[in-house]
Amino acid sequence: MPQVIIMVGDPLPGGVEDVAADVAGAFGLSPVSGRILSPDRAMELTLDGEGDAGEITDTVRQALPDIDVAVLPEEGRRKKVLLADMDATMVVGETIDELAAALGKEAEVSAITERAMRGEIDFEAALDERVAMLAGLDAAGIDRIAGTLTYSAGAETLVRTMAKHGARCVLVSGGFDRVTGVVCEKLGFHSDRANHLEVSDGRLTGTARKPVVDAGTKLATLRETAMAAGCALADCLAIGDGANDKPMVEAAGLGIAYRAKPALRAATSAYIDHTDLRTALYFQGYEDSEIADAIV
Ligand SMILES: [Mg+2]
Repeated sequence: MPQVIIMVGDPLPGGVEDVAADVAGAFGLSPVSGRILSPDRAMELTLDGEGDAGEITDTVRQALPDIDVAVLPEEGRRKKVLLADMDATMVVGETIDELAAALGKEAEVSAITERAMRGEIDFEAALDERVAMLAGLDAAGIDRIAGTLTYSAGAETLVRTMAKHGARCVLVSGGFDRVTGVVCEKLGFHSDRANHLEVSDGRLTGTARKPVVDAGTKLATLRETAMAAGCALADCLAIGDGANDKPMVEAAGLGIAYRAKPALRAATSAYIDHTDLRTALYFQGYEDSEIADAIV
């Protein structure tokens, strides 16, 4: 099956198509056609055959370190399901750290968050430990924080464009449902799944409802969503940044590591490190003319 090399830059340097063609040639492949997806930002080359996607991607990336690259099969690139992580993917930063900041415990909590996202400590134990530190926080404070989140550039465009083209879009997070509910509506997801913080008399009790949403829940949500949409995992896109996104990113036909921790990078060869979340649309072959103008 022919493969496509997609290159996205901010902006793309001149001559990238020649570099990509040279790399393809080293793998015994030749470009048969090219297409501009976004003027000066995104283009793709279709090859006359198939090579090792990871190796081709790495080689292009070494030659062009400041752009984002993916090498994907030409067939089936438009995905019918989007599973997206929230913290440090759809929104900037980790919302649990912002909640902790409201309590003056940011340093303690964010140190645990960082280790959990790198996969160094058990996700559930880390969640329980941090949630316990939030005990006593006014629950309405979470809603205030949810209303002031900074969204990642291109997040709304990614979700609304895929939804407009018929994809089922689900937000899945190891964070909290009071936050994901707001983000779900703002960005145009169809549904969301996240942890529920127990509240008593308007204040957080310091416990999260069990079972917690972890890496396994994210993978299960991907499978359930694909089944409900009547499509295969190959027709799904999963995107995240942390260790707990690894199973869903590995399982999806298109798994994208967005400004990701090292623990997630081994799960895929498609990274977004230099450009915004619209790149997940270019990887699927969308052109600017098809992309909804709902830019955040
Ligand atoms: Mg995350």
